[in-house]
Amino acid sequence: MNGASSAGSVAFDPFRPPMVGAETWQSAMDAAGWRCECTGQCGKGHGKTAGRCGINHGTAHPLAVTAADPTASLHAAVTGAELVALCAGCQAGSKRAATKAAEQAAADRTDQLDLFDLTGGDAA
Ligand SMILES: [Zn+2]
Ligand SMILES: [Zn+2]
Repeated sequence: MNGASSAGSVAFDPFRPPMVGAETWQSAMDAAGWRCECTGQCGKGHGKTAGRCGINHGTAHPLAVTAADPTASLHAAVTGAELVALCAGCQAGSKRAATKAAEQAAADRTDQLDLFDLTGGDAA
């Protein structure tokens, strides 16, 4: 019976974001190969790195594990939504792009409604 006293010394990554659990984070990072998984959703083409962001996880560029759909809620992200590892730049970029797309979609909808009202009320 050897006293196993090393249990408390598991490597702790200070960059683990609080939004997902350690195991989820670890498996998502493993799946990503510890490299940013952005393939252009941030708005950049990442052409220099074969279409995928080349940033590896590290102290200078800690990756965050986040829902693949940037507009998904935190709840969706922690309850089994598709997860991706993204660097800070791509995370911000993809969120911005998704917000913009949502705004655009809403604007398009409004345009169509206006158009409908116009044609509907002007039937002479
Ligand atoms: Zn990236
Ligand atoms: Zn990117």
